[in-house]
This record gives sequence, C-alpha cells and structure tokens, in this order.
Amino acid sequence: MFYGFSYIIPSIMHQKLPKEIDPFRLAQTGLKLDGELPLATMPRLTKSLQNDEGVVNVKMAFDMDEIGTPYMRGNFIASVSVICERCMEPMMLDLDVDCLLAMVSSERKVEGLAEQYDPWILENNDPVLLSSVVEDELILSLPLVPRHEEVCLPDEAWSVGDDENELIEVDKPASPFAVLETLKTKH
Ligand SMILES: [Zn+2]
Repeated sequence: MFYGFSYIIPSIMHQKLPKEIDPFRLAQTGLKLDGELPLATMPRLTKSLQNDEGVVNVKMAFDMDEIGTPYMRGNFIASVSVICERCMEPMMLDLDVDCLLAMVSSERKVEGLAEQYDPWILENNDPVLLSSVVEDELILSLPLVPRHEEVCLPDEAWSVGDDENELIEVDKPASPFAVLETLKTKH
C-alpha cells in the first residue's frame, strides 16, 4: 500500500472543511480531513447544551477496506457546556468520540457489514452535510443524565429563599463578635 502524499502532511495542519461531501467518492480517493466546525452549525446537538459556543475538532479518514467496503474513520473532540442534573449548575463536558462507519446504499445492506462497522446509510447520491454526521456521533455520545464526576453540593437547596437561610443562621452558634454587635446597637 502506498501512503505517499497524505503521509507527509503533518497531522496538526488544519484545513477548511468542505460544507458538503460525497462520502462514497471520498472513500475511493482515500481523502483525509482535519479541521474545525463551530458548534453553532449543529442545532440538534446544541439544543441539549447550555450554549452553542465553541468548536469541534474534526478528523476524518475515508478509505476502502480489503474487501471493498467504503468507510470513514472519525475522531471528533469538543468541550460542551451542559447542566449537571444533580446540582443544576453548568458544567463542561469533554467529548472525544471515535467512530468507524461503513457506507451502505440501503438499509438491506447493513446486515452484510463486518461487525467492526456502524452503518452509514446513504440512500441516494445527494451530497451530505459534513456537520450532520459529526453532529449525529456527538449526540450519541452525550450522557443521558449529565452529572459532575465529583460529588457536587446541591447549592440550590441552600439558597432557595430567605426563609431557609434564616433557619440555617439560627442553627449556627452565634459568633462572639455578632453578640458584641447586638450589645453595641442596644446602647
Ligand atoms: Zn453537579
């Protein structure tokens, strides 16, 4: 196998990613893509997030395997902001998704795929939005219930209303200085 040209391109070199791609053709030419996509181009993903700020680092390698199956090996990295379901505070989530997708022209052909692949069903020859395949994989990688890994305090429970704060104050032993203050104001 001849790696040639793509082998000498440093992997840190970022390209401007094409908006639309023809995956079958890219597999035939063995194209590699490396670049960034704004999260703002992925509305189905960002509706589960706190905001659409940031970028996804996208690496894709298209090729054909030894039995002629066209595939795309992808790696997508992004830091996204979500709400922790335990403390209801925002938290950053680091997503790092690896995928190996085989392109098939119909659902019937999915069964014949080698088991290392997930299917990428492309039923017509229309160009595909590059961002949509990245978006699909990132959505699949989101945890169902995002939570801080460390034990996070339920901050909200302590600041719901003034009443609760007062209760907490009462339970605390009064500091000697606070007692002094009340004595002073009485004179
Ligand atoms: Zn939390």
